[in-house]
Amino acid sequence: MAESFVIEAAPAASVPVFGQKGRFPVHRIYCVGRNYAAHAREMGKDPDKDPPFFFCKPADAVVTDGADMHYPPGTKNLHHEIELVVAIHRGGANIPVARALEHVYGYAVGLDMTRRDLQQEAKDAGRPWDFAKAFDESAPISAIYPVASHGHHSSGAITLSVNGEKRQSQDLGDMIWSVPDTIAFLSQYYRLQPGDLIFTGTPAGVAAVRQGDVLVGAVQGLAELKVKIV
Ligand code: MN
Repeated sequence: MAESFVIEAAPAASVPVFGQKGRFPVHRIYCVGRNYAAHAREMGKDPDKDPPFFFCKPADAVVTDGADMHYPPGTKNLHHEIELVVAIHRGGANIPVARALEHVYGYAVGLDMTRRDLQQEAKDAGRPWDFAKAFDESAPISAIYPVASHGHHSSGAITLSVNGEKRQSQDLGDMIWSVPDTIAFLSQYYRLQPGDLIFTGTPAGVAAVRQGDVLVGAVQGLAELKVKIV
């Protein structure tokens, strides 16, 4: 029997899947911090010392199907972070590195949009990052490209341009923690579930965007994501 609710339930967040009518239902969004050495350095950190760390966004932070992103309130310094996104279709805890890719349904290109000013305030005050990272519409994302048809992606250019000018450009192979490493590590702390998305960190070159900007992100051989800030 279907459950009934005392108020109208929010619709489940989902992402389109390339070549499929069905959509990918989003359970949780995990994000890796500082996973490219050059970006860690631009944020003032030593990439060699820190183990991976994670933060989360709400599932309904996704912006899909070519929709615009609204410039969020409460910030004067909204930054782009282009990232490879991993979509999980098989859950598990304590997943070994060697079996981690069996849990991957597919890959997408996503933006970990960040209120950089609020993040700096949080860092300075030793407070959580939620206001900086987990706000509404903070996770624009392309369609998911299934492994079954498009394979795995461990190398290739990851790029972002704003109004046609290149801002971020690196190679997926430059990740400090690979996709299997990341899944294995995260699954020691959370039981991963079908529908989880993992944003795998951004390369160097993060910078501010303004209303009217058009962001085009891409991962070579995978997908392109185009988002207008309104
Ligand atoms: Mn990020």
